[in-house]
Amino acid sequence: MTEPSTILVLGGGCFGLTAAIELRARGWQVTLIDQGPLPQPDAASTDISKVVRMDYAQDEQHTAMGELSIQRWREWNTHWGEDLYHEVGFLVMSRHSLQQGGFEHDSHAFLTQRGQHLRRTSPEILRELHPAWNHTAYKDGYLNPAGGWVESGRVIARLAAEARAAGVEIIENAPQPRPYFAGARCTGITSSAGQIWQADAVLLATGAWTPTLLPHLQDVMWATAQTVFHFQPQAPSPFTPPQFPVWGADIGRTGWYGFPANAAGLVKVANHGPGRRVNASDPRTLPAEEEERYRIFLRETFPPLAEAPLHSTRVCLYCDTFDGAFWIDHDPAHPGLIIAAGDSGHAFKFTPVMGEIIADVVEHKPNPWTWRYRWREKTATNSDGARATMTHIQSTEPTAHQL
Ligand SMILES: Cc1cc2nc3c(=O)[nH]c(=O)nc-3n(C[C@H](O)[C@H](O)[C@H](O)COP(=O)(O)OP(=O)(O)OC[C@H]3O[C@@H](n4cnc5c(N)ncnc54)[C@H](O)[C@@H]3O)c2cc1C
Repeated sequence: MTEPSTILVLGGGCFGLTAAIELRARGWQVTLIDQGPLPQPDAASTDISKVVRMDYAQDEQHTAMGELSIQRWREWNTHWGEDLYHEVGFLVMSRHSLQQGGFEHDSHAFLTQRGQHLRRTSPEILRELHPAWNHTAYKDGYLNPAGGWVESGRVIARLAAEARAAGVEIIENAPQPRPYFAGARCTGITSSAGQIWQADAVLLATGAWTPTLLPHLQDVMWATAQTVFHFQPQAPSPFTPPQFPVWGADIGRTGWYGFPANAAGLVKVANHGPGRRVNASDPRTLPAEEEERYRIFLRETFPPLAEAPLHSTRVCLYCDTFDGAFWIDHDPAHPGLIIAAGDSGHAFKFTPVMGEIIADVVEHKPNPWTWRYRWREKTATNSDGARATMTHIQSTEPTAHQL
């Protein structure tokens, strides 16, 4: 156990901010430094929305973390006095009958066994209750009413305000901050302007920028670029809940998922695919053929959305680890340095539980969930990459069901 003292948190996404708030509550003196304003426009945690769900096939830990997070998202809505979490349900459909070993089947079976009340959905139900879907293509699936989406960029702004109010010092727009070492020990953070901040511990929560800052991690985690499209249909009402909840369309095999129209009438569609390996500071470029790929999918799945005008696109970075698990641990080679990164494209939903997980790691406190995110070696049997690791509960196709 560590006695509370001073800590520098580098990065103000959902990992860094929740850790800062929790550590402050435990008595630490906390300074959080970000390279940008908060929310940082290029951070993974920004954007208009993120899926919140408990559906994780037979993955008991992430199911339990999802259940607890959903409970806390509801409490945060009450605490904030406005709904940033929208519990509109998660509709999971497949072109095939649900089969054991598939994400849809296994999530349905596991959650039902845990007492969740899911509604199995047939083409007839799809036609009647969810008319934007192509019910001739999608055969089987279910609706989980406990799930939905969260206004992620606005949550980050809220958390930054809460951190400040709790006494966390937040320094924004710091020029190129990076960890600072005295020998192997990490003793602080320095910037390209020559500033130096010192503390007893440094928590690096820099998302996809982490492997650039710490090259010794480049073998186990890397940034992958993923695309997001925001459509603006002229009449958004067919794309609003309850007929159009958050959805996954054969997501375990294809990676397609999306959201109902938000208050501005924007319908977000995205693909949780293998992505492209990039450097976090590279320009964010959209592949030329990407819009047509989206339109082909929409024509097959949501014909009324297929020709909707495009409002905007976004290229967002996952920090993928080689095995798809987060990376939250003390750096064994650098005393004083703790890493909280490797989000692998699915961490935002867990924002309400991440602060405790990270703070327990910082303080060397026992926590039933931290073992999975520990420092680990990449070996021949577990080095297939985040996407491929999910195939053992999935299919042989190279996309995962996390998002
Ligand atoms: C396209 C896309 C869709 C997603 N959809 C979902 C979803 O539906 N549901 C879900 O649960 N999750 C989703 N995720 C994943 C989720 O967004 C991430 O898991 C989560 O936001 C990661 O948070 P983070 O704090 O690790 O990183 P980030 O949010 O990226 O934050 C990192 C912060 O570190 C700062 N930083 C970087 N380098 C430095 C430096 N040198 N000095 C100072 N500050 C620095 C950055 O400015 C940034 O503010 C999605 C991710 C993407 C990219």
